[in-house]
Amino acid sequence: MASKFLVLGEVRDGSLRNVSFEAIGAAKVAADGGEVVGVLIGDSVQALGVELIQYGADRVVVVEDAKLAQYTSDGFSQALLAVIESENPDGLIIGHTSLGKDLAPKVAGKLEAGLISDVTSLEVAGGNTVFTRPIYSGKAFEKKIVTGGLVFATIRPNNIEPLQKDESRSGDVVTLSANITDLRTIIKDVVRKASEGVDLSEAKVIISGGRGVKSAEGFEPLKELAEVLGAAVGASRGACDADYCDYSLQIGQTGKVVTPDLYIACGISGAIQHLAGMSNSKVIVAINKDPEANIFNVADYGIVGDLFEVVPLLTEEFKKL
Ligand code: FAD
Repeated sequence: MASKFLVLGEVRDGSLRNVSFEAIGAAKVAADGGEVVGVLIGDSVQALGVELIQYGADRVVVVEDAKLAQYTSDGFSQALLAVIESENPDGLIIGHTSLGKDLAPKVAGKLEAGLISDVTSLEVAGGNTVFTRPIYSGKAFEKKIVTGGLVFATIRPNNIEPLQKDESRSGDVVTLSANITDLRTIIKDVVRKASEGVDLSEAKVIISGGRGVKSAEGFEPLKELAEVLGAAVGASRGACDADYCDYSLQIGQTGKVVTPDLYIACGISGAIQHLAGMSNSKVIVAINKDPEANIFNVADYGIVGDLFEVVPLLTEEFKKL
C-alpha cells in the first residue's frame, strides 16, 4: 500500500553521506509507490536538498538553526519531531551510523513507535514492509515488521543500492521553522583524530591487518596496497590491542561493522568477534600462513602464505592495471 516515508540526509563536512542515498533507495521500496520526503537538519544545509531529489526524494524539508550546526541528540530530535508532526509520515529511515544509532531510538521512543535497527534489506509483502536484519553476530537473519503506528528503521551502510543519480529530477526544497529550545548539551569544540584516506564505514574496498602484521611498521605494505586500490585500512582487535594501529580502525563485534565489495584480511585468524564485523562483505580474500585459520571458512578466495611476501606482490600486480 502506498505510504509516505521520510529519509534523514546525513551531512558530514558539508556533504551528504552515501548512506543518505541508500536510505532513499530503501524508502522508495518501503513507500511502495508513495511519497519519499528528504529531511535536512543543520545550520546551512538547504543547498544539499537538490542532491536528495536527484537521488529519488520527491521533495525535501529543511530545518535550519544555528543551534543545529553540530549534531546533538537534543537539538536534532526536536527538529525531527517538528518535521514528523508537520508531515505525518508512515515511517522514517536513517543510516545505521553513529548519528542514526543515537537519534532513531530517541525519537522512536518519544513517539512510542517501532524501531528496526541495522537493516540490510527490505521488501513489501502482504501489505507490510518486511525488514531483514542480521542477528547472532551475522550468523542468522531475522525478518521483522512493525505492526502498528510509525515505522522507524536504521539501514546498515553499503547494503541497500541507491537509485541512479538523475540530474534532471526536480522537486521542492522548503524550510520548516521549528522552535529549537535551549539545548541541554552544547558542543564547544570538535577534536578530530587525523584519519588518513578513505572512510572505513563507507569504503568499497578494505585492506585489514591482524596480529600477523606484527608491528605498526608491518601495516606499511597494507597501506601501500590500499593506496593503489583506493581502499581503506582496517584492523582486527588483536592488532589494535597490540598497539599496531588506532582503535578507530577496529572491525568486529566491538568495532565497526563493514560491508565493502572487497575485504582483504591479512594475518587475521577469523575469530567470531571479528567475523561479526565483516562476514557480510561481498567478496572476502584471506591471506594467512596457517591453512587451518578460521578466516578461510568465510573467505571466497584464500591465499596460504606470508603476508609480507603476498601483499607487495599484489600491490605490484594492481599497479600494472
Ligand atoms: P590472532 O588470533 O593472533 O591471529 C593472527 C593470525 O595471523 C594467525 O591466524 C596467524 O596464522 C596469522 N599470521 C601470523 N603471521 C603471519 C604472516 N607473516 N603472514 C600471514 N599470516 C600470518 N576481535 C576483533 O577483531 N574485533 C572485535 O570487534 C572484537 N571484539 C571482541 C569482543 C569480545 C567481548 C572479545 C572477548 C573479543 C573480541 N575480539 C575482537 C577479539 C577476538 O576474539 C580475537 O582475539 C581477535 O580478533 C584476534 O585478532 P587477530 O586475528 O589479529 O590475531
